[in-house]
Amino acid sequence: MRIAVVGAGNRCLHLMEIVEKYQFNLISPVVVAVADINPEAVGYLRAKAQDIFVTTDYNTLFSRNDIDLIVELTGSMDIYNDILARKPRHVRAIAHTTAVLFREIESASSLFIQTNQELNETQTICKAMINGPILDDVMVISTDYRIINMNETYLKKLGLKRRDVVGRFCYEITHHKDKPCSGEKHPCPVDQVKKTGKPSTTTHTHIIQDGQKQFVSMACYPLMEDGELTGVIEVSKDVTKDVEFEKKMMHQEKMVSIGRLSAGVAHEINNPLTTILTSAMLIQEDVAPDSDIHKELSIIGNEALRCRKIVKSLLDFARQSKAFTKMESINAVIQESMVLTRKQAKFKDISLKADLAKNLPDLSIDRDQIQQTIINLTLNAIEATPTGGQIQISSRQTHSHIEIRVADTGQGIPADHLGKIFDPFFTTKENGTGLGLAITHGIIEQHGGTITAESTVGKGTAFIVLFPVPGEETK
Ligand code: ADP
Ligand code: MG
Repeated sequence: MRIAVVGAGNRCLHLMEIVEKYQFNLISPVVVAVADINPEAVGYLRAKAQDIFVTTDYNTLFSRNDIDLIVELTGSMDIYNDILARKPRHVRAIAHTTAVLFREIESASSLFIQTNQELNETQTICKAMINGPILDDVMVISTDYRIINMNETYLKKLGLKRRDVVGRFCYEITHHKDKPCSGEKHPCPVDQVKKTGKPSTTTHTHIIQDGQKQFVSMACYPLMEDGELTGVIEVSKDVTKDVEFEKKMMHQEKMVSIGRLSAGVAHEINNPLTTILTSAMLIQEDVAPDSDIHKELSIIGNEALRCRKIVKSLLDFARQSKAFTKMESINAVIQESMVLTRKQAKFKDISLKADLAKNLPDLSIDRDQIQQTIINLTLNAIEATPTGGQIQISSRQTHSHIEIRVADTGQGIPADHLGKIFDPFFTTKENGTGLGLAITHGIIEQHGGTITAESTVGKGTAFIVLFPVPGEETK
């Protein structure tokens, strides 16, 4: 279709651009002539530059025989009527208003195409995010805590279907609560986003079965529409393993540096201590046994001996010696340890009993070291238990572990001490070193085991040691 344009302003320019740019399906329009009384008009100049026929008098168009359609773009009704009256019969004509209408339709339809495309893209991203191979838990929540969507990973973990959760409250589905999360351990991430309008991150601490802690890290991102918050996307992840690993690493680093420091100090102190002790003893030989000096020298000697005991513990603690392991019967090791502690127990009239499971598999352990740990635990129990109390050492197999329990009916450990008792130098005793449990903890860890304490003040304390049974880990 060959087109002549009358009126060479911006509209003409636009028409020429569309004709050039677009692929038309049913007709192939081409602008073949442009008329305008102003030869400087933009459309005129462009047509001229492209070697299209131009004229300042539209009357010349009527005598041409290469025109199928005249488009009037001047906006003058008179000109349009004149064109209609004078054009050859086979030539069609449309007016400026019709052209504007088509132009509006054209821009509306291209806007529609663009919007549709954007919608498709957003849907793809949304689908990928909600159902794609994302291993984190993803949930879209409205500002009134209702679940809008949840990804497959999260649904699977909760054992629910999407239709079970959409529209329900997030706290109801994920926390089994009847109101939004709050407090220090469970701050509501949605509230934080609502307050600030910015992304926020929090960590929830959950107590799961057996009193174990689970740490869940959550990141919340605001969903904004026309500057208003319409909801949040929450991405959460179980970070318990990372937190535990970090804690363990920190603890180990602390132990190693304390160990080094202790070893250094202990070595430096040992020699002068020996000198003090022997000097005190030598002077004592020269003075009368009932003199004051003799008594004071005894005090010096005893205190020096006490220092030596502490230094010995420090060296034990710092000893980086590797465990020398052999397959041993843990019950035999317990019984040997009890022979060594029985006297102290009897001295305080404490009954020391064993309850050992038969047919326990042998464990790969360093006999001396494990004996030392049982003695440490038993001596602590004796020290904490009043006259007439009881201590029981038991062993048994649970699933893939062997459990050893040292339980007493002593004074117990206050809750705020429980987290510190394995720290080196933590002691509540006047003459304590605070190293017994730190050493015990180190030895058990070296054996791949764990040690924990349970206690009720006034009732008693139990230390629980768990050793993995070789070859049973996967059962
Ligand atoms: P120490 O015996 O030199 O004080 P430990 O490391 O052996 O050092 O113990 C640290 C602290 O843990 C003790 O001072 C005591 O407060 C507490 N403790 C350990 N075992 C028991 C127990 N069986 N009952 C009560 N408290 C205990
Ligand atoms: Mg002790």
